[in-house]
Amino acid sequence: MTVQNADVAHIFEHIADILAIENANPFRIRAYRNAARTIFSFTKPVAELVSEHGDLTELPGIGKDLASKIEEIVKTGELKFLKRLEKEIPRGLSELVEIPGIGPKKAKYLYKKLNIGSLDDLVSAARQGKVSKLKGFTVQGEKKLLQNIDTFKHSDQAKRTLWIEAHDLALSLIEHLQKIPEIEQIEVAGSYRRKKTTVGDLDLLVSCSSPLKVMEQFKSYDQVQEVRAMGDTKASVVLKSNFQVDLRVVDKESFGAALLYFTGSKAHNIHLRKIALEQGYKINEYGIFKGKIKLAGSEEARIYKQLGLGYIEPELREDLGEIEAARRGKLPKLVEQKFIRGDLHAHTDASDGQNSLEDMAAEAKRLGLEYLAITEHSKRVSIAHGLDAKLLEKHIRKIDQFNKAQNGMTLLKGIEVDILVDGKLDLPDSILELLDVRVCSVHYNLNLSMEKMTERIIRAMDNRYFNILAHPTGRLINKRAPYAFDLEKIMIAARDRGCFLEINCQPDRLDLEGEHCKLAKEIGVKLAISTDAHSTNQLHNMELGVAQARRGWLENSDIINTMSLNALLRYLKR
Ligand SMILES: [Zn+2]
Ligand SMILES: [Zn+2]
Repeated sequence: MTVQNADVAHIFEHIADILAIENANPFRIRAYRNAARTIFSFTKPVAELVSEHGDLTELPGIGKDLASKIEEIVKTGELKFLKRLEKEIPRGLSELVEIPGIGPKKAKYLYKKLNIGSLDDLVSAARQGKVSKLKGFTVQGEKKLLQNIDTFKHSDQAKRTLWIEAHDLALSLIEHLQKIPEIEQIEVAGSYRRKKTTVGDLDLLVSCSSPLKVMEQFKSYDQVQEVRAMGDTKASVVLKSNFQVDLRVVDKESFGAALLYFTGSKAHNIHLRKIALEQGYKINEYGIFKGKIKLAGSEEARIYKQLGLGYIEPELREDLGEIEAARRGKLPKLVEQKFIRGDLHAHTDASDGQNSLEDMAAEAKRLGLEYLAITEHSKRVSIAHGLDAKLLEKHIRKIDQFNKAQNGMTLLKGIEVDILVDGKLDLPDSILELLDVRVCSVHYNLNLSMEKMTERIIRAMDNRYFNILAHPTGRLINKRAPYAFDLEKIMIAARDRGCFLEINCQPDRLDLEGEHCKLAKEIGVKLAISTDAHSTNQLHNMELGVAQARRGWLENSDIINTMSLNALLRYLKR
């Protein structure tokens, strides 16, 4: 996406904050604040004005100086003037004004009185009770301040919000907004809609005949901590979780165009605009135009159609060949959750799961699945009460018994067996051969060299009872990077040996990523989408893995758990 009005407004607000700390001329400060407001509520993207060589000084409150700054931001994404300012003030002081309860005035005051030049300075002063002794602060306020800083720091470290967290927020916010009966359409755009594993902020689009009502309702959401901007049809708030949500009310006739525009990705949109230009059209957030005539705008699909393209699913919009494929009518028919017939990785309270085998089976049935593999940890994972051969044998009998009772759900006898550091599996073949499916995992000794790790996994695959490589990269989003290994080599080895790789649906794992799925398809190795559920609730996470597969262009036939039970069991035999 090109630089948005909100970005420009944010930079100007930031400048105003710094100037205020520096005790600059109040008129100058106000000029930046006014400009920020003007640009934020301006209905046309300033980036477009710049690219059309429009006159920015025609905007209220924008003189030559500000106009050239806007131009610089649009063209370079940043502003040298701001960088210079940031150098002049004590490092970290501008961070202070980001803390709720501390405006520029208080930041300056703290700097003057206690020589506080950073967040850390402020924390230590507050802990010593120095802040509450100052005029305008209280003991209560000091406490609250420490809490706010803690929240801020926390959010700063884990900058990206997991998709599922954003999803929960989106659902509750939509429910709140839908109390306005005049709302006709409501969608969340942005990377959320493209189902990226993490989401930076939420972009809500609404069509409604009473925009002001929507604004009021938005503001009244009980999770709102701060209203950053509020116009007639646009607003931006920060929630208590420090998550930013932007909302726009757009005309019904432009809803599809706006949805397309704000869904992105930036690269996808740029490519679309180029195609439009080549065909003599123009597209923007209001529609697709030939000259002054609007050809479409209310629906995304009609805009694509006008460009001679099939409808491109949001998960594909990364400019990674989807536009070319759409042009040739060669878009994949993406896998859908309703075609998933079973789940091949789940734990019960026999190892580290929370629910019984019966409860897990009942929930899987309720979700419409036909089969569920029970895959407890093996003994190496002692912390999770991994099973040894004896316990596993007992467990196998229990599953046999369950299946005999014909509960309308077939449980597969499985294991999540550890891949030991030498590439051996954690349980003897004599017990592995009694199982329907073996999920194999690396949980320990993650710090091997790339060669050693690759060798270790391939050696494990040499075992004829190896079926599925679980959570293949080992990454934990925001917590742990993937371990070093050669994924391509592993995929080739898996294909050649009749093994499969897993897309793990745990919200902070979600490996494989979209591009890995694409690679798997190229190489010709099939994948399983598995929840790795440790509770009945987590069985619901299947959609997260399906989203990864869709981002990787995968179709039903690429996913082994879209198969019927009998076909799958045959397929798993090596
Ligand atoms: Zn595991
Ligand atoms: Zn597991």
